[in-house]
Amino acid sequence: MRLGALEAGGTKMVCAIGDETGKILEQVSIPTKTPEETIPEMIEYFRKAQIEALGIGCFGPIDPNPNSPTYGYITSTPKLAWADCNIVGAFEKALGCPVGFDTDVNGSVLGEVTFGQAKGKSCVIYITIGTGVGAGIYIEGKLLHGMLHPEAGHVMVSRRQGDTYPGKCPYHKNCLEGMAAGPALEERWGRKAVELKDRKEVWDLEAYYIAQALSGYILTLSPEMIILGGGVMHQEQLFPMIRDYVEEMLNGYIKTRQLSDMEHYIVPASLNDDQGIMGALELGRRALREG
Ligand code: ADP
Ligand code: ZN
Repeated sequence: MRLGALEAGGTKMVCAIGDETGKILEQVSIPTKTPEETIPEMIEYFRKAQIEALGIGCFGPIDPNPNSPTYGYITSTPKLAWADCNIVGAFEKALGCPVGFDTDVNGSVLGEVTFGQAKGKSCVIYITIGTGVGAGIYIEGKLLHGMLHPEAGHVMVSRRQGDTYPGKCPYHKNCLEGMAAGPALEERWGRKAVELKDRKEVWDLEAYYIAQALSGYILTLSPEMIILGGGVMHQEQLFPMIRDYVEEMLNGYIKTRQLSDMEHYIVPASLNDDQGIMGALELGRRALREG
């Protein structure tokens, strides 16, 4: 099966050709300009590859509801050139093949559940902590949409005593993204995140905020595994700190096999940063199966 995959991001569009086993045969990265410039470039790439279906994991907010008149649109995104862009429609029309569509983070969780460490699990959360914070949720064997799709990077967190940083999210200030995404971290400490590697207090505070959100997700959704990806999570020292804070915050209230084995519960992504593009292949495979 020859499948196309697109991981659509605010700075770059990763386009790949692969198959239903998650194998990536070739891949290119195209800078994200305007839809008028970038969509034809991508169409050209996929047309040449003669794919049978395309899967798109997309930055948002998007409309993933097939019954909605704006299904397949990027909707109210702050990346203004792309607001109200019918991205699915453009590819369907040009390529004439089925197109699967979901958020980038739902794509990533699908990649991990289909091809990675979360295979066989029915309730898994994937969180990216990068330029923004987003969460993909696979629950009871399905990607969660609900009324729109989860925007769990914007849950509020309590400011730690003594932290005077106001928060970077223009909507909420002290939501997780506002307090802990890469740009917030860099603004708070006045340095590039990579240059802060040896500053324990930086990662301690970062872990404190991430753990608050994770504790909320654990209590609400009861995931069997939590996967953390994105640029900031390349700081691997964060993992043990986050696990310790989650344990402290839950304070023994829930007792499960998974929570007693934190090292295998809160984990890094397992697919070499290909979870998003591999998940998009699976979105394409599903679109083909569903016609
Ligand atoms: P995006 O979210 O745009 O897809 P990334 O997930 O790579 O991209 O996130 C980029 C952000 O992650 C940057 O703003 C930077 O603050 C942070 N970042 C990137 N690499 C690292 C790293 N090695 N360590 C810590 N933070 C990083
Ligand atoms: Zn916010």
